[in-house]
Amino acid sequence: MKASPRRDCLSEGGFLQGLQRPAWRVAAACVNFSCLLLLLAPNASAQRTALKPGWNMFTPQQDIQVGKQAAVDAQKQLPLCNAPKVDAYLTQLGMRLVAKLPTSGVQYPFEFHCVNDKAINAFALPGGYVFINRGAIEAADNEAQLAGVMAHELSHVALRHGTNQATKAEAAEGFLGIAGGIFGGSTGGALLTKLGAFAAGGVLLRYSRTAESQADVMGTQVLYDSGYDPRAMAQFFEKLEAETKGKNPPEFFSDNPNPEHRVERVDEEVEKLGGVPPSARRDSPEFEAIKREVLALPVAKKLTPAAAAAEKPPVPPSGHLADYQANGYSLKYPDNWRKYPDSNGAGASFAPDGGVVDDGTGHAALAYGLIISVVQAGGDPNDWDVLNNATQQMIQELQKSNPNMKIARQSERVRLNGQPGLATYLSNDSPVGGQETDWIVTTLRPEGLVSFVCVAPQPAYEKYDKTFNAILDSVRFTK
Ligand SMILES: [Zn+2]
Repeated sequence: MKASPRRDCLSEGGFLQGLQRPAWRVAAACVNFSCLLLLLAPNASAQRTALKPGWNMFTPQQDIQVGKQAAVDAQKQLPLCNAPKVDAYLTQLGMRLVAKLPTSGVQYPFEFHCVNDKAINAFALPGGYVFINRGAIEAADNEAQLAGVMAHELSHVALRHGTNQATKAEAAEGFLGIAGGIFGGSTGGALLTKLGAFAAGGVLLRYSRTAESQADVMGTQVLYDSGYDPRAMAQFFEKLEAETKGKNPPEFFSDNPNPEHRVERVDEEVEKLGGVPPSARRDSPEFEAIKREVLALPVAKKLTPAAAAAEKPPVPPSGHLADYQANGYSLKYPDNWRKYPDSNGAGASFAPDGGVVDDGTGHAALAYGLIISVVQAGGDPNDWDVLNNATQQMIQELQKSNPNMKIARQSERVRLNGQPGLATYLSNDSPVGGQETDWIVTTLRPEGLVSFVCVAPQPAYEKYDKTFNAILDSVRFTK
């Protein structure tokens, strides 16, 4: 189930914001929490741009801890090249770049893995776990270009962009106050759990454009310092853009959004470094041999995260319930589910591990769980016609982003914490394949129409019915 893309409606309090914070939101969070440190500050003594990791409530050890777990998961879920020679080459090239990577004295346990995926992409998890798609190796014209992509990803690690992003997302949710760990330096288990949720939701790998620009600049410096043509990274990006004009942009740009004037900024940095050295390294016989080997690898069947989730459904909901307090209501939810509160304090999503999947286009979709959202609606909360109209409008809004969503059973009157409510069953395409059942319960409150959307794939719905009823029975309105 996808939340509606319309910002004035469901998505405002909807699920997407909880998990998939768009860059503009992160930028907005920035204004409140002076991120001046994050900005590129030219250093007067040295010509090159000085870069430092930004504000972070996590320690570098926690970067390693969460990255290591995410890397173990990634290796289970991704088709790996299983080509020892290729991995050895990537490790050798990667460590040559790491030798020039400014990590502020932190020793990260760098690892480099080749992924058997033709999509042109690469990513690095916090702590230094780097994954490079075969597509990126195949698309590189020479070793310097591949080194450029790797230097860019390594810069995200050194600048700790993943946990910086999580820090900002956390702050945007207003949980900063209870995270005493930031200033005390303690390593709270709750924070790590939260970080795990960020990892699962992909937050650690969705960088802002500022972060992208920083990774470009530091990557260019690393290329230069390790003897490569410092223009190679920008050349690779230019090539990708030119080759994919008018087509779907390569995956790399969805994970690493193009900052403004990307190429110009790199050129500027090359200038500051003193230009391209005449002896700059561009290619090697090793790269050409590895590229041939990669081109000859059999193509792996790509198991999308959604397909992987379909093969391994979440563990059943726990009978033990945890308390959740929102702005305007409270409820109880299974204590083995994760909560994803919206920043506005009203909406929230709850899902088991594996309940949130990539819908195949890089967007998070809820396959199992509950989405609570609030949309603007007025009128007498005890007037069934008003409630019915607001509910039908909300469903039509949902249908815009879920074109195959259909009403399976007309709305029935129910009571939710004594308030008049409407319960409606819908059917929809499940992000894990097949059909899903959506049970929507709506009620009018002073803040608007509050909807509780219970989602599970149709074959599994019966197993979740009791849990959804228990959650809705526990709802208490506090205003
Ligand atoms: Zn990037």
